[in-house]
Amino acid sequence: VPFTIHIAKLANGPGPLTYSGEISIASWLADRRDVRALGPLQVSLTARGSADGMTVDCDCSVDLEYGCARCLRPFREPLNYSFRERFTIKPESADEEEEIHLVRGDTVDLLPYVEEHLQLALPFVPVCGADCRGLCPVCGANRNERDCGCKEERIDPRLAGLKDFFKHDESR
Ligand SMILES: [Zn+2]
Ligand SMILES: [Zn+2]
Repeated sequence: VPFTIHIAKLANGPGPLTYSGEISIASWLADRRDVRALGPLQVSLTARGSADGMTVDCDCSVDLEYGCARCLRPFREPLNYSFRERFTIKPESADEEEEIHLVRGDTVDLLPYVEEHLQLALPFVPVCGADCRGLCPVCGANRNERDCGCKEERIDPRLAGLKDFFKHDESR
């Protein structure tokens, strides 16, 4: 399994270990109805051994298709992210605050870290563009494509309360 690294061998071994590969991430996106992968995640990692563990640097990229949260149109965008994780085999060197993970066995499975950082890199609310004008709440037209001319009265619920307050005040 290429994403499982034998940390004890690396700690005492020669130079860094590098690996490039692909991971199918469809199951990682199962909870997101607004994102799907158009291909595998490309992963390129370097693991460098130290006296008591290793440091892993990882670059990842994947082509994604999102559903815009404003206009509901699908759009494609690559996602690139990088991360570093540090591991130690000595309990005294472990430090969760510094994010130095203690490894209790001989090997480290890096896949959970690759997934965790993917989830962190994904936008919570995908939008096709910062200037996306979304759908008209009155007629449903895509306002990026045409100006439907509907008039919207938007009253902030807090302001609505304030309006009542002033009415009440005037009637006294
Ligand atoms: Zn949009
Ligand atoms: Zn409209």
